[in-house]
Amino acid sequence: MSKARLATIWLEGCSGCHMSFLDMDERLIDLAESVEIVFGPYVDLKEFPKNVDITLVEGAVATEEDLKKIREIRENSKLVVAFGDCAVTGNVPAMRNQFPVKDVFQRAYENNVTEKPLTPTEDIPALLERVRPVHEIINVDLHIPGCPPSADTIFFAVSELLEGRIPDINEKTRFGK
Ligand code: SF4
Repeated sequence: MSKARLATIWLEGCSGCHMSFLDMDERLIDLAESVEIVFGPYVDLKEFPKNVDITLVEGAVATEEDLKKIREIRENSKLVVAFGDCAVTGNVPAMRNQFPVKDVFQRAYENNVTEKPLTPTEDIPALLERVRPVHEIINVDLHIPGCPPSADTIFFAVSELLEGRIPDINEKTRFGK
C-alpha cells in the first residue's frame, strides 16, 4: 500500500504546534507506517514538493514570503490544515495588527534600542500591513484550534484524514477525548 504524502510547515508561529506534533511520541511510529513526511522542519528540502496529500500549516500569514508560500502549498496539496490558533485566527502574531507596520519596526529597532538605533532596510521580511489567518488567503480543509493543539487532537485529526474523513474537531476537543 502506498503511503500518504504528509507535509508540515510553519509560517509566523513559535514552533509550539510542531513540538506538540512530536508529543505524539510512540504514536509517531504508528503514523510512520502510513505516511511519508515529504516536507517540514524534519526534512532537509528547500522547495515545497508537488502532489502532497496533507499539509499541516502552523502560523499566520504575515509577510510577502508567507503569501507566496501559502499559495504554493494550496496549489500542491490535496488537503490543507490550519494547524493551531495562529493559523486559525492569527492569534499571537496578529497582535501587531492594531499598529501600523512602520510603528512596529520603529518600536523594535529604534525605541527599545539604546545603542545605534536604526531600522534596517535590507534582509528583513516585507511585512504585510495586517497579519492574516490562513483561511483569509486560501481555502482550508480543516481547522485544528489550540495553542498548541494537544498531541491527542493532532493524532485524532491526522488519523481521520488518513482514513479519508474530515473529522469534527470541535466534538473531539469539547469532550477532551
Ligand atoms: Fe505557537 Fe500557539 Fe501559535 Fe502554535 S498556536 S504557533 S503554539 S503561539
